[in-house]
Amino acid sequence: MTSPASGASAPIAFIDLAAQRARIGRRVDDAVQAVLASCRFINGPEVTEFEQKLAAFAGAKYAVSCSSGTDALALLLMAWGVKAGDAVFCPAFTFCATAEVVPWVGATPVFVDVKEDTFNMDPESLEQAIQVAIEQGLDPRVVIPVDLFGQPADYDAILPIAEKYGLKVLCDTAQGFGGTWNNRRTGSIGDATATSFFPAKPLGAYGDGGAILTDNEELVTILKSLREHGQGVDKYQNVRIGMTARLDTIQAAVLLEKLAIFEDEIAAREKVARRYSDLLKDVAGVPVVDPRATSVWAQYTIKLAPGVRDGLAEKLKAEGVPTAVYYRLPMHLQPAYRHYPSAGAILPVCEALAEEVISLPMHAYLDEATQDRIVDAVKRALAA
Ligand SMILES: *Cc1c(COP(=O)(O)O)cnc(C)c1O
Repeated sequence: MTSPASGASAPIAFIDLAAQRARIGRRVDDAVQAVLASCRFINGPEVTEFEQKLAAFAGAKYAVSCSSGTDALALLLMAWGVKAGDAVFCPAFTFCATAEVVPWVGATPVFVDVKEDTFNMDPESLEQAIQVAIEQGLDPRVVIPVDLFGQPADYDAILPIAEKYGLKVLCDTAQGFGGTWNNRRTGSIGDATATSFFPAKPLGAYGDGGAILTDNEELVTILKSLREHGQGVDKYQNVRIGMTARLDTIQAAVLLEKLAIFEDEIAAREKVARRYSDLLKDVAGVPVVDPRATSVWAQYTIKLAPGVRDGLAEKLKAEGVPTAVYYRLPMHLQPAYRHYPSAGAILPVCEALAEEVISLPMHAYLDEATQDRIVDAVKRALAA
């Protein structure tokens, strides 16, 4: 993750964290220094302040910070008592953590296909997956819609299905925090939301971190206990089996500074994405954002005809333009997950997307000259 490139072929950063440091590095360093001076490394006042500001930003009543996005997901399944014999519905086109936490509690992930346009959970496939789970004698308990690449899932369609089958809705907005659905920010939708502050996410810390957002006070009490070894009235009383899953005070201090400029960064990302789409729409399948949604553009992902993607990546790499492929192998085909049930024998959209997608450099500090270099390189490579 290097500084912006100046030369015509100098390497470009995929996500430029150094550019953000140039803007707020001093403030972040001072905030970290203050924590170092206080020595309150665990549960310092910055943690509570960050939780309050995060909840206010998202329009949720409560935020419970924790050690990672993965742990945020796991804490919720633990809090809801999800267990062996329960089915948890996950899109197959996602980062592995969405499904990974399900076997942790002994439950069964059931994989769902995604929509061709938004890459998010397909409600029809969810209905099919629920039928598959019932036929296999599983108890449908939770659905985990993922706000993939920054765009909220189709909650208008998913929430009624969840209601019909009595499923809890756990929104995985690790990539979509700050996005909106019907003008509501992610974090204020469903029963609870899990998010991640991994450094490369739109709102990233200087290390691992995560949070849960919810309006449910009772759930918050359980989550706060679970993240501290299942503590009761104090840390020497254990009322449930928990884990060590707190957010470090230093990370909370970093995140407070990052949250202060997050709204502005989201606007900058939107500008970059719009410009990419204007410049690339004639040569590639550019991202489709549902009119009810706004994206935070965790990734800017284009679609190409099958067989074209890997050659393009090679040519771009030679010109100093990094790319990434999310995701080359959908979850239901991964060696550790392929024995779990899916909505169908194949999940055709996931499997096609895995051959077609490629993500271009995207961050809030991508200037027009660098963007033009990327776009020109893509166009040249596709024309060759
Ligand atoms: C990054 C990510 C996670 C996990 O977050 P960590 O903080 O890295 O544990 C979960 N789900 C999705 C969709 C992600 O992209």
